[in-house]
Amino acid sequence: MKRSVCLLAVLGCSVVASVALHAQPGPLWQSTSYKGQEIGKLTGDVYYARTDDYVSAFMVTSEGIVLVEPVGPEHATWLKGEIDRRFGVPVKYVIYSHSHGDHASGAAVFADTARIIGHEALLGLLAMPPASTPLPQNLRAQDANGNGRIERSEAQAQIAAAFDFYDADGDGALSGAEATRGSLKLVTAPDLTYTTQVNITLGGKRVEVIPIPTDHAPDNTIVRFVDGTNVVFASDWITNGRVPFGPNVTMPSELAKIRQVEALDFEHFVCSHGRLGTKADVSANLRYREAVADAVREAIAAGKTLEQTRDTVLMADYVNWEFYEQQRPQNVAGAYRLLSAGR
Ligand SMILES: [Zn+2]
Repeated sequence: MKRSVCLLAVLGCSVVASVALHAQPGPLWQSTSYKGQEIGKLTGDVYYARTDDYVSAFMVTSEGIVLVEPVGPEHATWLKGEIDRRFGVPVKYVIYSHSHGDHASGAAVFADTARIIGHEALLGLLAMPPASTPLPQNLRAQDANGNGRIERSEAQAQIAAAFDFYDADGDGALSGAEATRGSLKLVTAPDLTYTTQVNITLGGKRVEVIPIPTDHAPDNTIVRFVDGTNVVFASDWITNGRVPFGPNVTMPSELAKIRQVEALDFEHFVCSHGRLGTKADVSANLRYREAVADAVREAIAAGKTLEQTRDTVLMADYVNWEFYEQQRPQNVAGAYRLLSAGR
C-alpha cells in the first residue's frame, strides 16, 4: 500500500500553490533521498515521524499525545499503530500546520480520540467555492474537450496523480470549484479553531500553537513543544538545508516572520520535509534570503537586467543545499521583481 503515499506526495503543496498562482515546481519531494518510515526521539518526550520526505512531530504525555500534521491517511494509519504499540496512550490533539492536502489529509484516523485543531482561516479554505467558479487559468489547457471540467481522462501531471483528492463529489470530473479548492477531499474540518496563540496543556506539558500567516499559507501555524530543549515545527516554509521555494522568499514580511521564529526559545527545528534541523538552520535560511536580497539590490543598482541578475547572482555558498538548481533562479528573479517594483 505504497500508492497512497505516492499520490499524496504528488498532490503536494506544489499543486495547491500553482492553483493559487504561485509558480512552483512539480512533485519534487519524490526526488529527494529521504525514504521509508521511521519514528525517532528529538528530545525529552518529543518525537518525529517520517514517511519519505514528510515529517510530522508529536509529544507524549501520561494523558495522551499531541500530534502536529497527519501527513495523509497512510502516514496517519501507520503512526496510530506505532503509537498504540510503543506508548499505549491515545492521540488527544491533532494540530494542522496549514490546510494543504499533503500535510493535513488523514486526521480522521485519529478522530475517535482526538480533537482536531486548525486556524480559523482553514475553514474558509476548505469551503467549496461557488459552482459557477471557472477552472483556474493554469489548468484550462487540460480541459481538452472545452466543457469547463477536467475529466479523469483529460487530467495531466499532478492533477492526474492526485485526481481523487480533488474530486470531492467523486463524479469523475473536476469542476472549476473542485480544481480551485485543491486536493482537500481528505482534510477533515477542525473542531477547534483559533486566530491567536493557543496553549495546550496535557499531562502537565505545554504545546504552543502559534498562527503566523505566510505567503505560502494564510492559515500557517507553527508549533512549539515545550519540553526541556524545546522543539519548533514549521511546515513548508523555513527549510533545513534546502533552498526555499518560489519567487517570494525575500519579501520583507516573510523575513520579519522568520525573525519572529528565530527569536523563540528552541533547539530542534522540524520543517515538515527533508532532514531534521536545529535553530541554526532557521538562522541559515534567513541569512540566505537576506543575502539574495542584498545581492539582487546591488545588481539592480549596477543596472543589470532581470536575466543578467538571475545568471550572475549564483549564491555559491549554498550550492550544496537541496533544490539549489531548481529554486535559486526563481528566488533571484522574484527578488528582482520585488526590489525593482516602483523604481
Ligand atoms: Zn503547503
